[in-house]
Amino acid sequence: MKAALIGVGQAGGKVSQALLEEDRRAGYDSIRGAFAVNTAKTDLEGLDIDSMLVGQERVKGHGVGADNELGAEVMKSDVREVMGELDGVVDPKTEAIFVVAGLGGGTGSGGAPVIVNELQRIYEIPVYALGILPGRDEGGIYQANAGRSLKTLVREADSTLLVDNDAWRKTGESVTEAYDAINERIARRISLLLAAGEGIEGVGESVVDSSEVINTLKSGNMSALGFASADAAADAGENINVITSTTRKALLTGMSVPETTEAGAALVVVAGDSDRIPRKGVEKARSWVEDETRSMQVRGGDFPLDSDNVAILVLLSGVARSDRIEAFMERAKEASEEVETEQQTENFQNDELDGLF
Ligand code: GDP
Repeated sequence: MKAALIGVGQAGGKVSQALLEEDRRAGYDSIRGAFAVNTAKTDLEGLDIDSMLVGQERVKGHGVGADNELGAEVMKSDVREVMGELDGVVDPKTEAIFVVAGLGGGTGSGGAPVIVNELQRIYEIPVYALGILPGRDEGGIYQANAGRSLKTLVREADSTLLVDNDAWRKTGESVTEAYDAINERIARRISLLLAAGEGIEGVGESVVDSSEVINTLKSGNMSALGFASADAAADAGENINVITSTTRKALLTGMSVPETTEAGAALVVVAGDSDRIPRKGVEKARSWVEDETRSMQVRGGDFPLDSDNVAILVLLSGVARSDRIEAFMERAKEASEEVETEQQTENFQNDELDGLF
C-alpha cells in the first residue's frame, strides 16, 4: 500500500522516521513520504525527515507540555499551513495517509485529531491514525490525555490502529528505556503490513493487495496488529504446522493491543519464501483466525519475501470490545476525573482567602 506518514509530536516524528528508514532498508518502497509536525523545536532537530514547527506565535518553539487542549488549539491555527507543506509527501499514487502520534502527550494527542480532520476534508483516500497508547505505569495525565485523544480520533479517522506501549516491550524494560526498541518493532511490523498490501503481480497465488487492507480496516474504527515469526522448514509440507502455530502466537501473544481477539474483520498475511509457504497452511491459519475472532470476514494471503523465516501478521479491525481497550478507557476516565479534582483544589488554593495555618 503506497502510504504517506505524518508524525505529530515527539513520538509521532520518531516513529514516522523509524518506519521510513525500515521501509527503505528492507527495499519495500511502500512509503511515499514522511513528514513531522511539532510545537517543540528541539524535538524536530533530532529528526532527519522533512518537518514543520507550528504554534510559534503561541508557544515560541517550546512545545505545549502535556496540555493537549493547547496542542489542539495551536494545530487548528496552523493546520492550513501544514496542508500546504504536504505536496511532496502525499502524491497521486498515495493510497492512504497515516497520522502517527503518541496519544498521551500534548502536541500529538491534541494535534493529530485536528490534522486527521483536515486531511479528511481535502483528500479522497482513507486517512488512518497510528496511535500509541501509554503504558499502564505512565502517569494519570497521560492516561487522561490519551482517552480524550482516542475518542476524537475514532470519530475522525477511517481507522485508528493502536499500539499499546506495554505490548511490544520486553518484561523488565521500562517504557522510556524501551522507546527505541518499541519503535523498531513498530517500524518492522507496520512496514511489513504496508509492503504486503502492495501485491507483487505474477508472484504467488494469493498475494494480498491494498484493497484487502483497506476493506479490513473499514469494518470498525479501531484496529490492532499481531505479529510472530519462526524458522521455516525447507519442505513446504512441514510448514503447515509452523504457519498455524505462529499464527496462534501472533494473535494470542503478539498483538499491539494485548488481550484482543474478537474482531469485526481480520486479515492474515503469511510472509516468506513462496516455495516454502503451502496454500493449505495459509487457509488453515485463516480459518483458525475466523474461529478465534468470531468474525465472518477474515481474509488471508501470502507475501513473497526472500527469507528463511515465516512471519505472520494478523490485522484485526473492529476491536472496541477488547478487554485491554475497555480497561484503558476506564483508567483514562478515572484519571480524567482525578485531574479535574486536582485543578479545582488548585483553583481553591489560589483564592483570596487565607488558610487557618
Ligand atoms: P508530544 O510531543 O507532546 O506529542 O508528546 P509525546 O510524543 O512525547 O507523547 C507522550 C506519549 O508518547 C507518552 O505516552 C510516551 O510514553 C509516548 N512516547 C514518547 N516518545 C515515544 C517513543 O519514541 N516511542 C514510543 N513508543 N512512545 C513514545
